[in-house]
Amino acid sequence: MKRAEDLEVRGRTVLVRADLNVPMDGAAITDDGRIRASLPTIRELLSRGAAVIVCAHFGRPKGDDYAARAAAGPSLRPVADRLAELLGQPVTLAGDVAGESARVIASTMAAGEVALLENVRFEPAETSKDDRVRGGLAGRLAALADEYVGDGFGAMHRKHASVYDTPLLLPHAAGQLVLAEVAVLRQLTTSPARPYVVVLGGAKVSDKLAVIGNLVGSAGSGPATPRSAGSGPATPRSAGSGPATPPHADRLLIAGGMAYTFLAARGHQVGDSILQEEQIPQVTSVLADAETAGVEVVLPVDHVVADRFAADAEPEVVHGPDIPDGKMGLDIGPATRELFGRKLSDAKTVFWNGPPGVFEFPAFAAGTLAVAEAISHVTGLTVVGGGDSAAAVRHLNLPADAFTHISTGGGASLEYLEGRELPGLRALEAGS
Ligand code: ADP
Ligand code: MG
Repeated sequence: MKRAEDLEVRGRTVLVRADLNVPMDGAAITDDGRIRASLPTIRELLSRGAAVIVCAHFGRPKGDDYAARAAAGPSLRPVADRLAELLGQPVTLAGDVAGESARVIASTMAAGEVALLENVRFEPAETSKDDRVRGGLAGRLAALADEYVGDGFGAMHRKHASVYDTPLLLPHAAGQLVLAEVAVLRQLTTSPARPYVVVLGGAKVSDKLAVIGNLVGSAGSGPATPRSAGSGPATPRSAGSGPATPPHADRLLIAGGMAYTFLAARGHQVGDSILQEEQIPQVTSVLADAETAGVEVVLPVDHVVADRFAADAEPEVVHGPDIPDGKMGLDIGPATRELFGRKLSDAKTVFWNGPPGVFEFPAFAAGTLAVAEAISHVTGLTVVGGGDSAAAVRHLNLPADAFTHISTGGGASLEYLEGRELPGLRALEAGS
């Protein structure tokens, strides 16, 4: 994969696909980690005399066409403002994605200047399944610039116009963030030092079953057959896009909302906790596979519960794995915090995705804090992946070196660990 630093950019306009999809509370950015992570590549290109046009998606615009989506938002305006603040220079926000406004800006930009296109998901074509529809948007995006740099790691698992189709139309390279993310994930997937402990939390088990299957070595959960690129034969998997057979974990610590489906599969009562009943058969078979493979699966042994899902709900500890009716589990309990701490204490490699509790509510954040602290004491490779997990740990004010790497990509890092080829990486590797 070619590196952005190897592109000749002086006097040229470079389109940088970044991941600036930051969490918001109303009009306020609650965690600007993704914007900060995109700065090194943008700065490096500017310092070498490029004009930089940044392209990114934001939230989930709804509506049938461009006009409806652009009217409903969300606009990248607050992100443009924060980006300008962090870069210390003006950032011109285009009034559209790849229309008249973007074209005028692109054709009048000078070296050292930065522009941001509007939310690329205002364009329904961005996420279209139809190659030709995506290709139309990719053509308009490519026409804005001379070169393309892919640096939006969090979107690399999407076969979207700005991620997959546009780089194929321009000289292209990978940005620093993408290269750093891939380097770390490659370490995780090529003979990790053992014990290799994986902590999984978050809301839904369905989001994570594929990666769990892979981590316990389930038959049939190996890398998905490379999906057709829609153009030419599928390229063989190369070192950058994903490993052929990711190694399995030694230990899997399961918490968060998904733990209740695991507990239910083991015959426990989960009260009113979030439960994906339809997933119980898959979870049961994953548990059996783990047993066969000798992967230890550790589930919560106690809980912090409440009678409703709210920040001001009264927290209450339930001793033991069963949760009575009328109560919902919102965090792991004190005995589980201790158990997880012990199960992490001898780890040499850790991957953590998904908060073990509803950390957004301070009364239910102790489990997330305990897991973060336990991982911070591990000497070895420690990786946190997932938008919410990354935001959670950044708010804990742990020392900067508490983790080897905080990934900006949730879905992207999970798919990489599943051994799947990421379309965005494949496009960046093409022809270079
Ligand atoms: P990430 O973005 O790190 O991949 P997810 O998006 O999978 O993580 O999950 C994050 C969400 O999971 C958080 O908003 C958190 O509140 C929620 N969550 C954690 N534990 C529970 C629980 N016990 N019940 C409901 N939601 C939970
Ligand atoms: Mg999330």
